Amino acid sequence: MSHHNHKLHEGDSLKEAARDRLTAEGEQWTGMREAVFEALASFDKPASAYDIAEAVSKAEGRRIAANSVYRILDLFVGANLARRVESANAYVANKHPDCLHDCIFLICDTCGQTVHIDDDSLSGSIRKAATNAGFSAPRPVIEVRGKCGECDDR
Ligand SMILES: [Zn+2]
Ligand SMILES: [Zn+2]
Ligand SMILES: [Zn+2]
Repeated sequence: MSHHNHKLHEGDSLKEAARDRLTAEGEQWTGMREAVFEALASFDKPASAYDIAEAVSKAEGRRIAANSVYRILDLFVGANLARRVESANAYVANKHPDCLHDCIFLICDTCGQTVHIDDDSLSGSIRKAATNAGFSAPRPVIEVRGKCGECDDR
């Protein structure tokens, strides 16, 4: 992996990094966007737009439509604040909004727990192979399904 200041944020530090990243993109960090980000970050598993809408509705004390949450999640994915876990059809907060990687997800088939790793040499090889095959701007999606350590112990 290339040498850079790779930092995984948690809690307030994650929220600040996300806000800084979004405003650097020229987008506003509105109350609604903050509420969606907080809800997203509060899940310890990938969450669907519907799950997040439920959590935001509860926190705000009013009904928030999944559609408006979906639009915000789309914006977050584009700005590197969130990642889509394709095989789970759900989203996770990106713990490193200030640096870009092709995040790799390991998803437990039993409990849904998702582990996130970054290995640019792995995704770089896939990117290179795709480019060699004539693909332009390939976007590697690397997701591994299996059993997490906890479920394997049972
Ligand atoms: Zn990094
Ligand atoms: Zn990552
Ligand atoms: Zn598990």
